[in-house]
Amino acid sequence: MNLPVILRARRAIGKLTPIPADCGRLCGARCCHGGKNDGVLLLPGEEKLLFLSPGLEKGKSENGRSYAFCRGKCVRRFRPFLCRIYPLGILLRGERILVTADPRAKRTCPLLLAPEYLSPAFIGAVRRAGEILKGDPEGRAFLRDLTKELRDYHRFIG
Ligand code: SF4
Ligand code: SF4
Repeated sequence: MNLPVILRARRAIGKLTPIPADCGRLCGARCCHGGKNDGVLLLPGEEKLLFLSPGLEKGKSENGRSYAFCRGKCVRRFRPFLCRIYPLGILLRGERILVTADPRAKRTCPLLLAPEYLSPAFIGAVRRAGEILKGDPEGRAFLRDLTKELRDYHRFIG
């Protein structure tokens, strides 16, 4: 994916966070513990930006998708796109972008126990980022794969 598209999607989230406070203080930043099995999926081409955050290492899955692995630290303003939208996920249904809870976050993130406290501005920004990705052929393909993955997780995790 072109870097300008990736940057636009990242910028759509900007400084918005799931709640208007440092939620990491609620839970001890559970989603940022890092570890060799805790990679975050990257947008296609996003690996080119990893050099901006020295804490991040690139890895590949068996099916060739790129991941970033961290040890619980990164340069926050350069964190990967999917870290920015956590604990939410983006679904592509036909032409519609839907924002949903990421089923993988349900066991980790206390915010999903009380989703009514999630910031509407954050949810809206995640939707706008989804629209930006949808407008790019590779971004669209990424969203299709992500939708399938989130649905599969939903079937198993609930
Ligand atoms: S697990 Fe949820 S509450 Fe904790 S830091 Fe991550 S997003 Fe915030
Ligand atoms: S890359 Fe940064 S934001 Fe993402 S999980 Fe690691 S420490 Fe957290």
